[in-house]
Amino acid sequence: MTKAYDYDLFVIGAGSGGVRAARLAGAMGLKVGIAEEDRPGGTCVLRGCVPKKLMVYASQGLELCHSAQGFGWDVKHEGFDWERFRSRLHGELDRLSAAYTNTLKSNSVQIHHGRGRLKGGHEVVIDHPDGTQSKLTSQTILLAVGGWPSLPDVPGAPDHGLTSNDMFQLKALPNSIMVVGGGYIAVEFAGIMNGLGVKTTLCYRGEQILRGFDHQVRDHVCSAMTARGITILTNANPTSLTQADKGICAAMDNGPDVTIDKVLFATGRHPNTKNLGLEAAGIACDQVGAIVVDEYSMTSQAHIYAIGDVTNRVNLTPVAIREAVAFIDTVYKGHKTAYNHHLIPTAVFSQPEIGTVGLSEGEAIENGLKIKVYETQFRPMKTAFLGDQEKNFMKLIVEENTDILLGAHMVGNGAGEIMQMGAIAIKMGITKSQWDSTCAVHPTTAEEFVTMKVSRGPIGA
Ligand code: NDP
Repeated sequence: MTKAYDYDLFVIGAGSGGVRAARLAGAMGLKVGIAEEDRPGGTCVLRGCVPKKLMVYASQGLELCHSAQGFGWDVKHEGFDWERFRSRLHGELDRLSAAYTNTLKSNSVQIHHGRGRLKGGHEVVIDHPDGTQSKLTSQTILLAVGGWPSLPDVPGAPDHGLTSNDMFQLKALPNSIMVVGGGYIAVEFAGIMNGLGVKTTLCYRGEQILRGFDHQVRDHVCSAMTARGITILTNANPTSLTQADKGICAAMDNGPDVTIDKVLFATGRHPNTKNLGLEAAGIACDQVGAIVVDEYSMTSQAHIYAIGDVTNRVNLTPVAIREAVAFIDTVYKGHKTAYNHHLIPTAVFSQPEIGTVGLSEGEAIENGLKIKVYETQFRPMKTAFLGDQEKNFMKLIVEENTDILLGAHMVGNGAGEIMQMGAIAIKMGITKSQWDSTCAVHPTTAEEFVTMKVSRGPIGA
């Protein structure tokens, strides 16, 4: 006889992964509950992808005016109204969060407002915002609590440093900002702030921003961001922040002090595992506090699973969603499914934008592969017409012996959109000659991808 639990499935965390798993389980007729201390939506909807992308659009207003003028329009603009935009932004986030709530409710998922934590065994405690607690039991528990931005150990950072969460709540736009870090969030916010007219300095501790991306992509984006007006300091890191008369003074480890109005630390995110009761439940974590799971997202306890950023595998919204679907297939649909994390395409909404899938040139060589490299740089039709100088960059990595496409990389308008399509072909194991047999769509930027004939190489192996 099976023990009676309050729920068949209880999910902690109503972000992209948690909501997907809860609603799929609810739709199957299972008794499902979910705990969320904020409102439904999670990082992506409330503090990440969605508001960030809307800010990217907002920051491109001047560029749009410039294009319109170039195409013959009389355009008058009177500057950017941050408060008006912020109010619309939060209106949109309210709409989306309400849609998430409705999705849960329409799939009979019971929403508990509060922070969920494990008590041991099958028990979950929820600490509600009003100080009360409730307890419940569930046959299966899914941890989908995501990650949280962290401040580095720099004196003055807790008082003067912002994280990406704060960027959506600013009361007013600063005149100047220093963005610390060289990853996704740093380059995206540097582009946003610069586009909105904020004097922007990006400072990165290493040789070149965007570690992990193809080296030519990194160089191309760095040059283009500089040409757009961002000051990029490499091999540079703040050592302390202090309040000065004219703003915040950042003492630097390699160069003179920098005085700015705001400092954004985009120096990484950490799994949100603090006070989650993992020890009580006997769940193993790694050195950075991420929950250790097997390929089916099962933790060290057979009835507790974890998906998304809290597991620190590939920290992207669509990946958390795929892990959620694989979890449902495995636990409730009778077919064990391990989500395959190979060849995940991604976009960085820097300005200019990056789209990428598969191996970089450096990774291919490190993996002992013999490759050919196809690459091109060109001014797209619209840019040339407007008399602007920024170039697009495209690159394909092809295995010499098999002709199989190992990676595709692009910098330029629409790179993310284009890479979604390229990723389908690359995931299917397409060869360069099959790729090239696809007729170009003319006149587009993307057509350049199927017309690259001259290669560099073979290199590697
Ligand atoms: P990343 O890990 O991408 O970048 C962190 C950056 O901060 C790196 O440049 C790192 O340098 C630097 N850094 C780390 N610690 C310190 C320190 N103590 N002092 C100075 N610099 C430091 O993290 P993000 O916060 O940018 O993004 C987190 C994750 O969120 C990403 O990995 C991505 O998966 C996801 N994301 C995805 C987006 C998208 O899909 N468009 C957008 C935003 C986020 P170093 O390179 O030397 O380690």
